[in-house]
Amino acid sequence: MGLKNYEVPSKDYAEQYRQLMPAIRDEISRVFLEENPVLGDSVVAFENAFAAHTGVRHAVGVNSGTDALVLALRVLDLEPGDEVVVPANTFFATITAVNMAGARPVLVDPDPDTLNLTAAGVTAAITDRTRVLLPVHLYGRLAPMTELVELADLKGLHVVEDAAQAHGAADAAGRRAGAFGNLGCFSFHPSKNLGAFGDGGIITTDNTETAATIRCLRNLGKVDKYHVGHIAPNSKLDTLQAAILRIKLTHLDAWNNRRRAIAGRYQTELAGVGDLDLPDNPGGEAHVYHLFVIRTEAREALRIHLRAGSINAGIHYPVPPHLQAFDPDHKAGDFPVTEAAARTVLSLPVSWELTDRQIDLVISSIRDFFGC
Ligand SMILES: *Cc1c(COP(=O)(O)O)cnc(C)c1O
Repeated sequence: MGLKNYEVPSKDYAEQYRQLMPAIRDEISRVFLEENPVLGDSVVAFENAFAAHTGVRHAVGVNSGTDALVLALRVLDLEPGDEVVVPANTFFATITAVNMAGARPVLVDPDPDTLNLTAAGVTAAITDRTRVLLPVHLYGRLAPMTELVELADLKGLHVVEDAAQAHGAADAAGRRAGAFGNLGCFSFHPSKNLGAFGDGGIITTDNTETAATIRCLRNLGKVDKYHVGHIAPNSKLDTLQAAILRIKLTHLDAWNNRRRAIAGRYQTELAGVGDLDLPDNPGGEAHVYHLFVIRTEAREALRIHLRAGSINAGIHYPVPPHLQAFDPDHKAGDFPVTEAAARTVLSLPVSWELTDRQIDLVISSIRDFFGC
């Protein structure tokens, strides 16, 4: 089904590009005529701009958020049996990336309020095989990085951030997602706060040597034109996607502000409605609301009601990773917070291009449903 079949879609790509089209058309024409299709100047220019925006020294473009995670973990030289602590409640690729990097994911149920990892939750999962903490800034809200990095330092662990949903999210001091851990991993899937026209991803780090190794790992393991130092995939960010992303990055902060404004409306106008549990606005921090996820025991009925009113509300995520076919080690009941979330979460449309009128419709439809 096309995204436009709803009066209020969860996002409207055509509308996003309508607003950017002249600039993108000019840039694509220039890149076709002037640049190398692979690892062209636009890749370097975008990597530098993204590193500056994040507040780190290096950024290395790759072809997806999943590969960003796999390559960030590979650079840490994990051994089979080494453990990476991940939240149980995440997009499943956080977890399969650990397997693909040759290590063992250790799942931890998140904090029931924020649905993010906490140091207290992680501590119980640390063993003598633990090498990495891999927090996810779920839905665009920073995980509590100060306490997680402190714990990692105490235990001698690496920190890899899954920032696929958190481009531009920042703590009270302005430090951004991707700048707290040893490595930060971002996705440019079109649905993310910063998205390409297709797949893409990037890894951020302050470590120059690490960045150089990742440049090699993303490019078939090549150390120069004819010499191969690693067995590695071909996972480069395309020149064309980098050119598009470079234009879009200049709008990211404004788009995130617009997302916060929409979230603020929901928080005010849906407060106290029915049994709704709304995500709170973390004081001082910049939450970037990749998703605005409410929780209600009436999730299924509310979703059907919204759909009947031509409003598309998604579920992130209906089947927890530990109950997917790829995980034979877990069973229902293992992660109660994650399983309760899977049953009750509903994502309201919060994309920046949606109009105030469209948000009015969402709010009035939900108020109708609960009879208020
Ligand atoms: C989207 C996403 C990924 C994977 O990114 P792709 O670019 O789709 O491979 C990983 N982790 C999280 C939390 C995500 O939201």
